[in-house]
Amino acid sequence: MERYSVIEMKNPREMLLLKSRPCHWGLCSFCDYISDNDVNVQENIRMNKKVIKRVTGIHRQLEIINSGSCMELPNETLSDIQAIVTEKAIEKLYFEAHYQYKHELEAFRKRFTVPIVFKTGIETFDDDFRNKVLKKGVYFNAPSEVASHFESICLLVGIQGQTKAMIHRDIEILLKNFKYGCINIFQNNSTPIKADKDLIEWFHNTYGALEKLANIEILWHNTDFGVGGNSHEA
Ligand code: SF4
Repeated sequence: MERYSVIEMKNPREMLLLKSRPCHWGLCSFCDYISDNDVNVQENIRMNKKVIKRVTGIHRQLEIINSGSCMELPNETLSDIQAIVTEKAIEKLYFEAHYQYKHELEAFRKRFTVPIVFKTGIETFDDDFRNKVLKKGVYFNAPSEVASHFESICLLVGIQGQTKAMIHRDIEILLKNFKYGCINIFQNNSTPIKADKDLIEWFHNTYGALEKLANIEILWHNTDFGVGGNSHEA
């Protein structure tokens, strides 16, 4: 499993895939990457130290993902991240967290000396599809409510049952409300959720040009960030 990469093209940054305790939610129907979670805290700390040591500070920006939420990383790992931030003069951090942690973001921010961009997996703004099909456990009244907590969101595109109308609306909301967006194109994995190849092709033809925007990343393949064997997000 590759746990370190450097993203050079857009918003250049180093990226780490660290290990944490099990995702507190753990129920998303499309997610099979929580198998990377581990209850062995000492082993997580040991592994994370090895990965964190690889940071060079080349782009002064560092993104940490962990197949769950940043609040689930070991305390000692968070201290190790702050230490590397200082040592390598990192100027900005990116972390991911499930929406249910929205009230813990500010306390988390205080642990670090540099600004943090928090990312959360919304997947779609269609409430039924998000919570009944994808079982995401993310509830809010309006996109502005999400944007008041998170600058960056992930959308999931290309699942059987998803419609073009849903995707049009999701993209519109993303562009209007959020500073950063990451669009994950779904690929079949070990869950019963299945990709819709025609929908993915339609998305590619209709929205592929979004990649030209500085603030939007599209992961056509789940290893496009260079870490992990699957798309990872909280
Ligand atoms: S998608 Fe994220 S929040 Fe959902 S089960 Fe997987 S790691 Fe947990």
